[in-house]
Amino acid sequence: MNAPKSSILLVYTGGTIGMKEDPCDGTLRPFNFDSLLEEVPELGKFACRIDSCTFSPLIDSSDVEPSMWQDLARLIRDRYEDYDGFVILHGTDTMAYSASALSFMLDNLDKPVIFTGSQLPIGRPRTDGKENLISSVEIAAAKREDGSAMVPEVCIFFNSQLFRGNRCTKTDAGGFDAFSSPNYPPLASAGINIRYNTRHIHYPAEHWGTLVINTELDTSVNILKLHPGITPQIARYILCDKGTRATIIETYGSGNAISREWFTDIVREACEMGRILLNITQCQVGEVNMDLYATGRSLKEAGVISGYDSTTESALGKLFHLLGTYADNGKVKALLERNLKGEISK
Ligand code: ASP
Repeated sequence: MNAPKSSILLVYTGGTIGMKEDPCDGTLRPFNFDSLLEEVPELGKFACRIDSCTFSPLIDSSDVEPSMWQDLARLIRDRYEDYDGFVILHGTDTMAYSASALSFMLDNLDKPVIFTGSQLPIGRPRTDGKENLISSVEIAAAKREDGSAMVPEVCIFFNSQLFRGNRCTKTDAGGFDAFSSPNYPPLASAGINIRYNTRHIHYPAEHWGTLVINTELDTSVNILKLHPGITPQIARYILCDKGTRATIIETYGSGNAISREWFTDIVREACEMGRILLNITQCQVGEVNMDLYATGRSLKEAGVISGYDSTTESALGKLFHLLGTYADNGKVKALLERNLKGEISK
C-alpha cells in the first residue's frame, strides 16, 4: 500500500451540513459529527489521512461570534505542522464573515484553509453537502509539482466553485449556488477534473515567514446602510456613537450618499470626533469611486475612506483585525486603503 500523500484536518463547527431534524418540532439542529463521517464513506477512498475535530457547542452559524474565529485561528496554528490543509465545515449564513476574518487573522499562510457547508443536511438524499465536502478535501490536499500547496489561501468551496474567502457573499438563500464572488474570479472549478485558476491564486513570496496568527480583534464597528427616508437622528446615532471607532457606510452605486447638508454635517462631525468611516457600495459588482459624483466627493472631502470593491463581510473582518492590532486610527486608515489579503482590487 502507498503511504498517505497528504493529511487533512476536518473541523466541524456546525451548520446545516451536519444538522438533523428535531423529532419534536421539525427544526434543523446541529448533530453529532461522528454520524456526519458515517454519511460520507467516500472520504475513506482518498489517499490521504483525514482527521477530524468538533467544536463545542456546535452552532447554527447565525450564532457565530469573533471568539470562534480566535479559536479557529489558534487551532490552525496549533495543528499547522501536522496537516497539509484544513477544511472547516461551517453554516452558510455567516461563512463569508468567518472566511473573511480568518484571512486577516492568518499571516504567512502557505496551506489551504477551505470553508464549506451545504444547503441541505448531509443525510438527505439530494444533499449538496457530499460534493462540497469531498471536493474541499481534494482541494485542501492538492499540491503543485514542487510539493507546495495548490491553493494556500483562506477559501470558500461551494457548488463546484472555489472562491477567495474574503471576496465572497452569500447571495442565494435557497439554491445550491449559494455563494458569489462578484469582484474576483473563482480560484478553481470542479468538473470531471478540478481546474485551478493559478493566475488568480495568491502564492507565498520566496522569503515567506512562518505562520503568525492575529487574534486581537476590536469589534467596536457599526454598519450604516443608507436608504431613502433615513433620518438625521438614526444617521447621527450610528455615525457618532461614542462606543465605536469605525463605521462602514453602505452607500449607493459608486459610493454615493445623500447630498443634503444635514448628512454631510453628520459625516464631518463623526470624522472630527475621530471615527473611521469606510465607504462600501451596496452594489455587488463594481467599486466605490468617490470622485465620480458630487454626492461621493463630499464624503471624501469630509474624510471618508474608500472601501473600493470590498464586500461588507470582508470590510468588517479587516476593521476588527486592524482596530484590534493598532491603537492609532491613522495607521488603521492607511492600511484600510491597502490590499492586505487580496480583498480589494488595488
Ligand atoms: N442556518 C444555517 C447556518 O448557517 C444555514 C446553513 O448552514 O446553510 O448554520
